[in-house]
Amino acid sequence: MSKLETREFEELLRKLDREHRLDAGEWKCLLEAEGKETRSQAAEMAKKRSAEQFGNRIYIRGLVEISSYCKNNCLYCGIRRDNGQASRYRLTEEEILSCAGEGYRLGFRTFVLQGGEDGYYTDERLCGVLEELKRRFPDCAVTLSLGERVRESYERLFAAGADRYLLRHETADKTHYGQLHPPEMSWNNRMRCLEDLKEIGYQVGCGFMVGSPGQTAECLVKDMMFLQEFRPHMVGIGPFVPHHDTPFAKEPGGTVNQTLYLLSLIRILLPQVLLPATTALGTIDPMGREKGILAGANVLMPNLSPADVRGKYELYDNKLCTGDEAAESLRILRERIGQIGYDLTVDRGDSPMAE
Ligand code: SAH
Repeated sequence: MSKLETREFEELLRKLDREHRLDAGEWKCLLEAEGKETRSQAAEMAKKRSAEQFGNRIYIRGLVEISSYCKNNCLYCGIRRDNGQASRYRLTEEEILSCAGEGYRLGFRTFVLQGGEDGYYTDERLCGVLEELKRRFPDCAVTLSLGERVRESYERLFAAGADRYLLRHETADKTHYGQLHPPEMSWNNRMRCLEDLKEIGYQVGCGFMVGSPGQTAECLVKDMMFLQEFRPHMVGIGPFVPHHDTPFAKEPGGTVNQTLYLLSLIRILLPQVLLPATTALGTIDPMGREKGILAGANVLMPNLSPADVRGKYELYDNKLCTGDEAAESLRILRERIGQIGYDLTVDRGDSPMAE
């Protein structure tokens, strides 16, 4: 970068930090400035902001992948309906409760129930699980990540005890959304879901894949401007990782560096946001989670699913599910995080924005 460009970059970063708002042109400039030097400047500022909000504490969430059945056919996803090669499983209500019990014993105080859109999980069944989770573990938060449902369903699940909902918007660009999803899925409906969830009172997480097929600089500008308007409590971003049995098998994956840069910009934009260093980032780089934290992330989501089904929730190739990713190795995870100066914390870790 020339001296002028460096000065422009630094000014934009300071403006983002001060005003938490940029226009489309400014975002484009900032996003296009990604490089070694700008990445490290953004990370320094992001780390400062997360230290002010969270100290050196990293929140942990126990992820329970409740079903690999899915009625949807997202072009990027390994458990899409048309993937006849995918192994399908679903956990029973009792299995979900027992995963949570194991998690509780390990120190988890937030459980994330994630899955494909599986008709087995009706409101009645989910409400039953939620009520029992809250009865057994009243000091825990429950996050759902079960895709698009009607507003009334979100209301019932909230009333039954769900505290948070993760629903990545996937892309804020409608045309791009159409390139990632089959025609029967709609960007408008996904956005409607996010609005409903927020109105109902959930702590809401949105997010997108970095480097998904067809993603342009303009798409990312829209993603950042969407975050800036919507002000989610949580943002999940991770690199796109191709899955061999999907239409995107041969597409290039997203990069570690671009993901790190975006994590930093999101932390500066939304200083209080809960920002995970995702499994996808840990999958494409063995130091991915540490690098994510050093770029401004403050949440890790180890896997609590039963060992025998874990390999089956295969959203993308080589998805981490054993080793340090597994919740049993919390001790190892704590050591690894300790080496970069952070500590795992076992409280519910609500978003400061929710208070
Ligand atoms: N059915 C739920 C959960 C989806 S899985 C829902 O619709 O929200 C959670 C996230 O994994 C998705 O939102 C998507 O962003 C991400 N994902 C899916 N396939 C992926 C891939 N190939 N590479 C990286 N991330 C992927």
